[in-house]
Amino acid sequence: MHTFQARDQFFPARERFADGAQYIAGRLTRGTSGQHHAVVDPATGEEVLGYELAGAKDVDAAVAAARAAFPGWAGASPGERSDAMHRFAAELSARAEDLARAETVQCGKPIKLSREFDVPGTIDNTAFFAGAARHLQGQSAGEYDGGDHTSYVRREAIGVVGSIAPWNYPLQMAAWKVLPAIAAGNTIVLKPSELTPLTSLMFAAAATAAGIPDGVVNVVTGAGREAGEHLVGHPDVAMTSFTGSTGVGKRVAEVATATVKRLHLELGGKAPFVVFDDADLESAVHGAVAGALINTGQDCTAATRAYVQRPLYEAFVAGVADLMATVRLGDPCDPATDLGPLISHAHRDRVAGFVERARSYARVVTGGEAPEHPGAYYRPTLITGAAQDSEVVQAEIFGPVLVVLPFDSDDEGIRLANDTPYGLAASAWTHDVFRAGRATREIKAGCVWVNDHIPILSEMPHGGYKASGYGKDMSAYSFEEYTQIKHVMFDNTAVARKDWHRTIFGDR
Ligand code: NAD
Repeated sequence: MHTFQARDQFFPARERFADGAQYIAGRLTRGTSGQHHAVVDPATGEEVLGYELAGAKDVDAAVAAARAAFPGWAGASPGERSDAMHRFAAELSARAEDLARAETVQCGKPIKLSREFDVPGTIDNTAFFAGAARHLQGQSAGEYDGGDHTSYVRREAIGVVGSIAPWNYPLQMAAWKVLPAIAAGNTIVLKPSELTPLTSLMFAAAATAAGIPDGVVNVVTGAGREAGEHLVGHPDVAMTSFTGSTGVGKRVAEVATATVKRLHLELGGKAPFVVFDDADLESAVHGAVAGALINTGQDCTAATRAYVQRPLYEAFVAGVADLMATVRLGDPCDPATDLGPLISHAHRDRVAGFVERARSYARVVTGGEAPEHPGAYYRPTLITGAAQDSEVVQAEIFGPVLVVLPFDSDDEGIRLANDTPYGLAASAWTHDVFRAGRATREIKAGCVWVNDHIPILSEMPHGGYKASGYGKDMSAYSFEEYTQIKHVMFDNTAVARKDWHRTIFGDR
């Protein structure tokens, strides 16, 4: 790997966050937990920013700010909210390069991915929800009992939303949580991962610059156990939306249940990639390598288990191994780099642990090692010969590791695809419309791609089946989840003795 660019010149994090790494009531402040934390660039192992984590007091202050802002924001007209969010999208566009650089430095994400995927996706999401703010749909009003009453449904904002996000796509996860919530008139306190706070803070600052009132978008950067649980259990928070691992999601559900909160859980994944024997081999091989390595495999929908029908199996394995060898590891700040490091050295060691254990029961065809480098890099890894019930096939590894297994009949391919606890995403590779139709019906996942794997759209829902959680991000479906429904019923008869009173008074 070549020389790495100086980080302070690429993105001056210390200068930008000199006032702290909490964003409460429209400004940056310092945390008060007494715990120091370092944002580390995983490509170099060097500290990018030291800051004080949020403690319970900071969470309380952020929730109070969100609560104070709620009546004004919820009371604004949809048009006013929409206008402010269109300005928000414009602010983000003006800051696009800055956001991309910050995302790359804190995550080790290749700059071309930040520039071409994370940032434009976030801007597009913002523009989408700016439009959606004016399009709350509901049942039409009517006289459902023949004329005595008129009923209609109101969709109302819920209140203060507390959201918790992971480190893999910090900016997009902030957007997926914040945008539908505020478009619907809620206010929000977002807790990003403490490893990657920078772009969530910049996102909130762009909202303020766009004229979104202080307190509508707040960010507390703290540890999960402390700030996270305090936010989830807070009595003034009406809804929790969480994106992260299934294990932590279960804990979040437990804490939220104690205060009877609405809950939205986007959890882990282990996406199958099913290649039928009529598939185009070149497409499937390229799709598998790109789908497995995107964001260094730290993607909840990444292709992790390829099931390949026997006639194509050998050629597929050879094709994937050859293609993986061409992927360039390097400085994430360099536009020529394809693959960055994992998020941390601890996570790299966790990924390496899965591969090392697999050597006793499977074959590591390529990769399976960390290059000699101070960064948290790991080479693209292909594993074959693992049993369906083995750890590498069943568990979420969250790294650049693809496992390939053969299958014979279509029944078997679909059965194996469904055979993990997860159900976030899947893909089927075939030119046969009946096979494709069957796969899309029978694979239990929140998204099934046909002849592609990964693309997402602001207009389409993203969310899991099974242990991948419930609730949808993006799209009109997520917008509706951040509202509550009220039935309003008017009496039209104006009589004192209603017909139904007979059940109480008889014929008196
Ligand atoms: P994680 O579950 O470790 O942490 C997620 C967030 O929860 C972080 O902000 C963390 O600080 C916080 N947290 C940790 N313990 C907590 C607790 N007890 N109470 C409240 N909050 C707590 O996940 P991660 O390692 O940051 O991210 C990777 C995971 O996220 C993977 O499992 C991945 O599949 C999942 N993910 C899912 C989606 C989706 O849309 N379904 C999207 C991205 C990532």
